[in-house]
Amino acid sequence: MKPQAIARDESFAVRLVYPNTAAVGASYLGFHKILAAFDAVCRCDAAFMPDEGSTGPLNIARCDLAAFSFTFEMDVLNLLRMLKENNIPLMAAERNDRHPLVCAGGIVPTMNPEPFAAFFDFFVLGEGELAIPALVEKLSASRHQPREDRLRDIASIEGVYIPSLYVVEDNHDGFIKSRRALGGAPERVKRLYDPGFGRTGSAQLAGLEGSIFKDSHLIETGKGCGQGCRFCASGFVYRPVRHVDKERLFAQIDEGLARKERIGLIGSAICEHPEIGAVYDHILKKGGGINVSSLRVEYLSADTLAKLAAGGLKTMTIAPEAGSDRLRRAVNKRMTDEDVLGAVRLAADVGILNVKCYFLIGLPGERDEDIAALAALAKRIRDELLAGSKRHGRAGKITVGVNPFVPKPQTPFQWEPVAPLAALKEKSAKLKKALSRESNMELKIEGGKNAAVQGLLSVGGRSVSALIFRAFEEGGWTAALKSPAAKSVYARRKEFGEALPWDFIDSGVARKYLQAEAEKAPSEKTTPPCPPEHAGCKRCGEFTGNCC
Ligand code: SF4
Repeated sequence: MKPQAIARDESFAVRLVYPNTAAVGASYLGFHKILAAFDAVCRCDAAFMPDEGSTGPLNIARCDLAAFSFTFEMDVLNLLRMLKENNIPLMAAERNDRHPLVCAGGIVPTMNPEPFAAFFDFFVLGEGELAIPALVEKLSASRHQPREDRLRDIASIEGVYIPSLYVVEDNHDGFIKSRRALGGAPERVKRLYDPGFGRTGSAQLAGLEGSIFKDSHLIETGKGCGQGCRFCASGFVYRPVRHVDKERLFAQIDEGLARKERIGLIGSAICEHPEIGAVYDHILKKGGGINVSSLRVEYLSADTLAKLAAGGLKTMTIAPEAGSDRLRRAVNKRMTDEDVLGAVRLAADVGILNVKCYFLIGLPGERDEDIAALAALAKRIRDELLAGSKRHGRAGKITVGVNPFVPKPQTPFQWEPVAPLAALKEKSAKLKKALSRESNMELKIEGGKNAAVQGLLSVGGRSVSALIFRAFEEGGWTAALKSPAAKSVYARRKEFGEALPWDFIDSGVARKYLQAEAEKAPSEKTTPPCPPEHAGCKRCGEFTGNCC
């Protein structure tokens, strides 16, 4: 889908809201992209959650459309608080023509909007900037019509999903009995993606500062990741992979370095960008520093790390995810311990002596020995850093971040449960015993309760809206999580044949491909990454014009 060109409508006002602080929202490039897309066709202001301790009206009620950028499930309670403070009814069904329309986009609803269906008039699934001109044009033209008619009018826009136009029967036990579209609404809703993203890219807006990367100008190197890790939403929800053209990146770098000292490169597949070496060279040639969000160790060479060190990179962030080669194969993370240690060695050689390592526990197929292997790998990484430290005369450090696995919709592990809380507690205790007293190491483990909430909000259906409301009213998740309805969502393994809440989304990736990937996991069979663009691949779906 291509966005249509329309004239700027000064009479239509949008409040683009990030349901967390400005520091978090301004660090997310998708927010910048949507703000620019709205600003091109109507009046649009950004709004964020006030920092703790600060007060003052957010003023999101006085607009035509309150559009939430929803990128992290746990922000849902912030989001409801913002609606309440602005006297906007939390339930979409209770709003009337005096209230703005309330919508959401971002990766959370793109994966599965159903747990949040009660709170929104509509969602935009996928790369929402593509739908914005048509949305503004239709909503502006229909502003004096009843709310229901206006919603029906936008139902035909590709990527727009209006929950009130679908009747879903479930037993409040996590199982869906039936689903029916009303009044000509499409049975399936397409997830939007921009085939031309490589030509435009996305970068930090000049007027939207305050990100957590203070001295960096943020630039996205591409959308999606073709590695196909079976647990990873980014690797499936943003397909097909689209790397931004080198020349476009050069132009964005030049603009960025006119304002900031460093360039922060953002993306799930920075290392896989076919011209990434030239991009690093360009930043260095222009006298800029380099920050990168995360690096894929198999793609790192001495030359690449030397460039990153020359750009002032002090900490290498990597994600081995699993502790053993065996479990990494099962989740299709095709990197070995030796790849990880080799990259750390090369980084230490060039003076990058700090490493942040991210791991998951509770992955499908995980065994006790994988937890022991995780601890052993963390120590070996630390030892490599200490060996490098001696050569450079200063001490390095490893930060080990451990998060419980949470099943994500539209990935091969979408049918899996969150591991039992007692099991996660036991694994965490083992890791703490093995690592918490180690020198030059910091261990950070996220609790299982948070993972259970995220699981509930990720793979639930419409009945989860009531549990969210309960958590909001009670000021916490404890009681809602204990309910049988919640456990049937986050703690139950779903059947391959079962109807899933997000089945109506046409993401472009075939469900049978996801199942085949899931079925390869127990025997540790890996799948190669996406081939280069235009290689004629149709392995996971039909992305005409990109993969084929
Ligand atoms: S069709 Fe092939 S190249 Fe395209 S996203 Fe799927 S696996 Fe990757």
